[in-house]
Amino acid sequence: TDIQALLLSRIRDVPDHPEPGVMFKDITPLLADPAAFGALTEALAELTVRHGATKIVGLEARGFILGAPVAVRAGVGFVPVRKAGKLPGATLRQAYDLEYGSAEIEVHAEDLSAGDRVMVVDDVLATGGTAEASLRLIRRAGAEVVGVSVLMELGFLGGRARLAPALAGAPLEAL
Ligand code: 5GP
Repeated sequence: TDIQALLLSRIRDVPDHPEPGVMFKDITPLLADPAAFGALTEALAELTVRHGATKIVGLEARGFILGAPVAVRAGVGFVPVRKAGKLPGATLRQAYDLEYGSAEIEVHAEDLSAGDRVMVVDDVLATGGTAEASLRLIRRAGAEVVGVSVLMELGFLGGRARLAPALAGAPLEAL
């Protein structure tokens, strides 16, 4: 579509970032273009409303930049999932495997509860590890997952397949 062409035109390929051999998808040109950022916010908000979400969970850090305006636009709450050690209150913590080693993410336990219907928002789905761990956190908090919405899916990394069991039938939307 025209919107997809606009969004794609504002994503910059940066070779060898953050390490040699990686082609990084940089979304800062998109954020700097109000037409593109507005169209992205609108499209993600439409998905959020369509799936009946009551909360957006945004994944640190670019999931905050995208998720916050989407939450306001959709009229739902915003809940940050952060790297471990950043949130000040009582948290739930979830570890997940990286290519080398592991990482941990956290959410404030009291920001999600039974009855919440959660849409996860991030910029890029790569291996799917971060999104998968976030789905575990959301369910451990007692909330329901209604979907994962991202700007871009790097299909060759197989994130969709890795995420499928944790999605348990909820949609993965990649604009
Ligand atoms: P995954 O856990 O799916 O392997 O990695 C996804 C996380 O890493 C997301 O939070 C995403 O922001 C970040 N990420 C991985 N690769 C890229 C990339 O090429 N571009 C951007 N903007 N983020 C990336």
